[in-house]
Amino acid sequence: MRIVQKFGGTSVGSIERIQATAKIIKGELDNGNEIAVVVSAMSGETNRLLHLANSMNDNPPMREVDALVATGEQVTAALLAIELHKLGVSAYSFSGAQAGFKTEGSHSKARIKAVQSDHLIQHMEKGSVPVVTGFQGVDANGNTTTLGRGGSDTSAVALAIAVKADSCDIYTDVDGVYTTDPRIEPKARKMDSISYEEMLEFASLGAKVLQTRSVELGMRYNMPIHLRSSFDLVQGTMVTREDSNMERAEISGVAYNRDEAKVTIKGIPDQPGIAAAVFGPVADADINVDVIVQNISEDGQTDLTFTVPRSDYDATMALLQTLCDKMKAREVMGDNTVAKVSIIGVGMRSHTGVAKKMFDVLAQENINIQMITTSEIKVTVVLEEKYVELAVRALHEAFALDQV
Ligand code: ASP
Ligand code: MG
Repeated sequence: MRIVQKFGGTSVGSIERIQATAKIIKGELDNGNEIAVVVSAMSGETNRLLHLANSMNDNPPMREVDALVATGEQVTAALLAIELHKLGVSAYSFSGAQAGFKTEGSHSKARIKAVQSDHLIQHMEKGSVPVVTGFQGVDANGNTTTLGRGGSDTSAVALAIAVKADSCDIYTDVDGVYTTDPRIEPKARKMDSISYEEMLEFASLGAKVLQTRSVELGMRYNMPIHLRSSFDLVQGTMVTREDSNMERAEISGVAYNRDEAKVTIKGIPDQPGIAAAVFGPVADADINVDVIVQNISEDGQTDLTFTVPRSDYDATMALLQTLCDKMKAREVMGDNTVAKVSIIGVGMRSHTGVAKKMFDVLAQENINIQMITTSEIKVTVVLEEKYVELAVRALHEAFALDQV
């Protein structure tokens, strides 16, 4: 097999961890595989470098910030190659530019345009291991660019696609994706496999195991992603295309996000264009709106309620107050102690009554649902934050997620 292995910050966070990582790589090589490696910076290093830049200048030039933070990955790539040599493995470190990562010019959030890595395939075929810096590339003018926080995952999947690997193995400090957060429900179970779509839903709810873009890329090119731990070499979770022949449970997992706030603008004139008049300025202020509910109008007036990240709560309230005055609406209300709980699973497509079951379970626990939104593979409710743990446990139990 040809495998791209990616090691995150904690897997290369110290000399000891780099030594352990080198052993994992040698092990897979000795099993007869062709290996290319992508590394993150040592854990904490990217933050440290950003902090250095900001301590010199509140608004440092982004080109130089990218040049600076890209060094974090260069350190780990070279150290890992040095360690591999010690184990008798032929290995070469490559920067993003050397490995052929061509990106757009937007610093700190560049998108990958092409990965020209044929020279790395030649190394792999000869049994040597290219060790590539994640998170970075080079734009058309030769400037170093970075891909956004957590971008090494995306580098790894992109490289796996470019070298036509059979699998992209992402080594991290958790051993897979669980049916829910084990800190809330100790009976949470590690999933053997999960579809790309489900993984995207879990990721968007704050399960920050994989950068979302890496999953989107994997989905587009059908690259299997094996999420696993470098601390405990057990089988992790395979993120793959949905297998339509498989018998699916009603749902695959329960996710939650506490980083939510709810705002309402009441008594706005119910006319064409009001949603645009409200959400236009909200979008211009770079505030991400999620769940939206518009009430049936009464006497020609309606209410609009929506959720925003909690960190944007104050800004949103201030903005809505201005709009309220301008649009002659009645009042603005808000609550920054709400949370979202979601059930997720491709099984929803073939099972009926899944949403109703969720609402029954919450009713039995006396939990009030404030807002509801659904997609083909997800039902989300907004509720008071203090009920998150109760809701998660009750749903995990009712949908028998602790059983295989
Ligand atoms: N080192 C970068 C970060 O901390 C990229 C990564 O680790 O994926 O965001
Ligand atoms: Mg990461």
